[in-house]
Amino acid sequence: MMTSRGVLSPGVIKELQAIVGEENATDDVAICASYSRDQHWHFVPPRNPACVVRPASKEEVRAVLMLANKEKIPVVPYSTGINVRGLAIPVHDGSILLDLGRMNRILEINPEMKTATVEPGVTFGMLLEQTRKYKLRPAFPDAPLTVSVLVNYYLRGIYQTAAADGHDHTISYEMVLPNGETLRTGSRALSSMPYFRYGVGPDFAGLLSAHPGTCGVVTELTAKLYRLYDHRQEYFIGFESVKDSTRLIYNLMHDELATSIRLVDNQSWLRGICGTFDYPYEELPKFVLCVLVEGLPGLFEAKDKLVRAHIEESGGRVLELPEAFKRRFEEESLGGAELSCMVFHLRGNYHCIGLYGPLTLAARYYELHEHTALEVGIPGDHVYFYLDPIYNFHGQLCYVELDIFYDGSDPRFGEKLREYNRRQFHRLLDAGIYGWFRPYAGIIEPTTERIGYLAEVWKKFLRIVDPNGIMNPGKLF
Ligand SMILES: Cc1cc2nc3c(=O)[nH]c(=O)nc-3n(C[C@H](O)[C@H](O)[C@H](O)COP(=O)(O)OP(=O)(O)OC[C@H]3O[C@@H](n4cnc5c(N)ncnc54)[C@H](O)[C@@H]3O)c2cc1C
Repeated sequence: MMTSRGVLSPGVIKELQAIVGEENATDDVAICASYSRDQHWHFVPPRNPACVVRPASKEEVRAVLMLANKEKIPVVPYSTGINVRGLAIPVHDGSILLDLGRMNRILEINPEMKTATVEPGVTFGMLLEQTRKYKLRPAFPDAPLTVSVLVNYYLRGIYQTAAADGHDHTISYEMVLPNGETLRTGSRALSSMPYFRYGVGPDFAGLLSAHPGTCGVVTELTAKLYRLYDHRQEYFIGFESVKDSTRLIYNLMHDELATSIRLVDNQSWLRGICGTFDYPYEELPKFVLCVLVEGLPGLFEAKDKLVRAHIEESGGRVLELPEAFKRRFEEESLGGAELSCMVFHLRGNYHCIGLYGPLTLAARYYELHEHTALEVGIPGDHVYFYLDPIYNFHGQLCYVELDIFYDGSDPRFGEKLREYNRRQFHRLLDAGIYGWFRPYAGIIEPTTERIGYLAEVWKKFLRIVDPNGIMNPGKLF
């Protein structure tokens, strides 16, 4: 029960403490304040939760949700809490922040099925350490190794760094709803074998995913694992424009030759990823295509030969970069980014619009990025770009990131970025995109206008699983 100031009553705090233990439920303001904001504070205003609760098991999660549902207290699930888009910031006063970090067990690694089953607090670093023993790895986002595997896959906004992995890494999962019921998707609903996504009826794993904490709490997830190979080769090819590079990207994807392909501008990502040492980055061509080839002996050599032929034909300039670049690119692609500061050292903070779209529109997205930034007064040297093809298929699916590196302490820059967003969301939708990376602040409104009755069905669906509307809407409805 809440008071008018959005503070939970002592009785509720006591009940929460009875569920998770006294030391794991607190309304201490100093602790609550540490959950009140993330890197997107220019877009999502900070707000303290009323209390922080740290369950250790799905039974505790269920008991907390049932109490919150009975008392109509908003709940914000939080796994590793690194999301940079304000998704885990409470929308309502008086919320319970459900920190799932104590649920950090790897429940199974099955090398025969090539799967891993994890709890929300398991990070990519923790999982990689275990899967390496079997020469396997998870699909990696280009995120620090400290982020949650379960949330990354469940949010399905994943763009991973290995193009050959495709984009569907989730097999099945278990979710606790506000009313305390447990939903299990795919074969997990029928047996103790969680290894097949399409177990019975509709694809519920798909239907329930990509809801940032708005349906219920995911307590377990089974995901695919991928092979780690010993034979690898990296290439860096310079181009002066996005357009010049797209033929080579297309050929490599079409022939399914490269494990990882990334087009970056010569400053931000190369400097950000490999920037632990000095290098005259500005002397590189404006864009650099990074390509990683790998495979079993025999297959590897054959692929490598074909890749070199495509590179030669492309007209790009093959660059001899230091060995450290190669190692970092390999780590980024197959082992996660260990440098969690990544590109932030360029100006301290980073804003991005991430979207999925076809390779054929990549040059247009970049053009719009430069144009809108200049229009709202953001200088050209703050504007960066990168592109990852993420699936070997005819739709030429790419993840595209339009980045701006800036000084987050400058409030005037925050205003420019908000204006940039207002204009850019519409322009990108007009240009044509497949979808957005995640629900950013301000993205849902212009987007739902365009998806017709689907938006109504989506809202009704959320009301079915959460009739009292206790789950944090984040940046959704
Ligand atoms: C520098 C940097 C670079 C990144 N690059 C990439 C990238 O290249 N590709 C990519 O895919 N991602 C990238 N990310 C995002 C990152 O992978 C995700 O943020 C992460 O996997 C999810 O963990 P989180 O700690 O952010 O989740 P949280 O902040 O804990 O949660 C995010 C959202 O999910 C909800 N949620 C949390 N736990 C649960 C649960 N158990 N059940 C239901 N809902 C839940 C929350 O309420 C919130 O809405 C990057 C992040 C950073 C910081």
